[in-house]
Amino acid sequence: MKKVKFFQSIHFKFVLIYILLIIVAMEIIGVYFINKLENQLETNFKKSIYDQVDVLEYSIQNLLTKKQNQADDVTVEVRKVLADFNNSDVSEIRLIDGRSGVIMGTSSNNQEIVGQKTTEDIIKRAIAVNQREDKIYMDKQTGERMWVLASPIKSNGEVIGFIYLVAKIEKVYRQVQAINQIFMTGTVIAMMITALLGIIIARTISRPIADMRKQAMAMARGDFARKVKVKGNDEIGQLAYSFNHMTKKLQEAQASTEGERRKLDSILTHMTDGVIATDRRGRVILINEPAADMLDVSRETVLSQPLISILKIEKEHQFEDLLTEQDSLILDFSTDEEPYILRANFSVIQNEAGFVSGLITVLHDVTEQEKIDMERREFVANVSHELRTPLTTMRSYLEALTDGAWKDGKIAPQFLNVTQNETERMIRLVNDLLKLSKMDSKDERLNKEWVNFIVFFNHVIDRFEVAKQQNVTFKRKLPKTEIFVEIDEDKLTQVLYNVISNALKYSPEGGQITFKVKEFDDKIEVSISDQGVGIPKENVKKIFERFYRVDKARSRKLGGTGLGLAIAKEIVNLHGGNIWASSKEGKGTTIYFTLPYEPAQEDEWS
Ligand code: ADP
Repeated sequence: MKKVKFFQSIHFKFVLIYILLIIVAMEIIGVYFINKLENQLETNFKKSIYDQVDVLEYSIQNLLTKKQNQADDVTVEVRKVLADFNNSDVSEIRLIDGRSGVIMGTSSNNQEIVGQKTTEDIIKRAIAVNQREDKIYMDKQTGERMWVLASPIKSNGEVIGFIYLVAKIEKVYRQVQAINQIFMTGTVIAMMITALLGIIIARTISRPIADMRKQAMAMARGDFARKVKVKGNDEIGQLAYSFNHMTKKLQEAQASTEGERRKLDSILTHMTDGVIATDRRGRVILINEPAADMLDVSRETVLSQPLISILKIEKEHQFEDLLTEQDSLILDFSTDEEPYILRANFSVIQNEAGFVSGLITVLHDVTEQEKIDMERREFVANVSHELRTPLTTMRSYLEALTDGAWKDGKIAPQFLNVTQNETERMIRLVNDLLKLSKMDSKDERLNKEWVNFIVFFNHVIDRFEVAKQQNVTFKRKLPKTEIFVEIDEDKLTQVLYNVISNALKYSPEGGQITFKVKEFDDKIEVSISDQGVGIPKENVKKIFERFYRVDKARSRKLGGTGLGLAIAKEIVNLHGGNIWASSKEGKGTTIYFTLPYEPAQEDEWS
């Protein structure tokens, strides 16, 4: 905030206005007063002299009238009368003859001029107009103003002489000047007092204003604690009061806005969906952490970037399309290795007038959903396909039989055998599907019991050994100790059945199947290895998927459903274990699975 310059301040303006007012007032009063005073003093001065001159005129008139009788004494008399003229202001007084203009007498010491003709202009003028004439002139020697008067002395209407008088009127002007001086001093004092008053009054106004200014600046910084001091109940006081009231209201408004902002912030941060807000031109103004994570961008760098480029849809869409047409979009960021699909929902922000002020985008990770959907679709297609194959086979055999093959005693039993095999395979398939469906719907509960796994495993292997029709040897590498695990025997028999029957199916003539159990601290690892065809490296992981078969035709020929290992995986997982495979093409395959296990503690009873 800029500091107020002195010449722009209220202090300066107040003082200036006050001083100007005083100057104008004093000037008007002064000019009028001094002028009047000067006139008055001048008039008084002249009047006192006129009065004396009137008396003198009378005396001289008498004297001059007498002079006509006794001419010798006149000069002496005149000098006496003039000398008697007692006025300290009058510096000289002369008597001039009315007809000849000769100086008849003077009050000054310079008596030589008596008898000489007067040269004064003013007397000439008075003679001309036959009236009193006066003027003020500047005495060159003293530099003072002098007042000269030429007054005619009349007798019977005839001018018999003139009185010429010089008076020091300078005294009057000096008096006026002295009064002027007093007036000036008074004005200066008044100006000083008003300037002081101006400063004090300006301060009473400027202080609360400066205080309010400080408070406004503090408010701009977010500090609402300050208050303006309310002094008095005048307009400024009222303003200060209103300002404090406004501060309080602002503080409340700010607190509620801040609260709302925090609430919104915490909602945005803690929600699992991503949220992006843009302005009306489609530039990002807000993005929450989940959205930044989903799009793998940093929150700071995407601000004010175009939304369509962040969503990577600039090739297919314009921002305006999102405003007008789109409700939601599927954004597929899947790679060959990993599926990654987002759904973006859009809603337009409009004000009351319907003016679009921005767009809110909500991002939702639908990868899992899409994956499940895809798997479901695939599963339905697989099931339909798996069922259709045996059914079409059976139909063609049954058609052949209907068409007369039943009469052929050699072919008919073969055909019926095929249809029977296909029916059994379908039953197996449906049974397997039912098992999986039970496990998927979590209906299946494990019926767990503590079982010595070695005994259990041996028992299952024995059954296979007895039943096997191929020339395959079984090799058991099982610990001699007892290993007690808590398992559902039926379910685990199913696992072993599926794995061992695969090993037998894919074993060559004369091959060997090795059964191993390894004991670890927290688990046992069971492995069944064969020396069969093996599985290509890239397919090893996939064999546990439903309906996945490396060689479909071969599997079908061997009576497989493609669900055996998927069921085994579900059961092992239900027991809290893992299942996996390792294989070398042409050399053999090993299927491993683990089961949770706690080794028996040696205690004093044992
Ligand atoms: P299937 O009923 O076809 O055997 P499985 O789920 O049991 O279905 O096995 C899936 C696929 O894994 C089989 O089709 C086969 O290609 C492969 N497979 C499983 N076990 C072995 C094994 N021991 N040797 C070679 N391939 C195997």
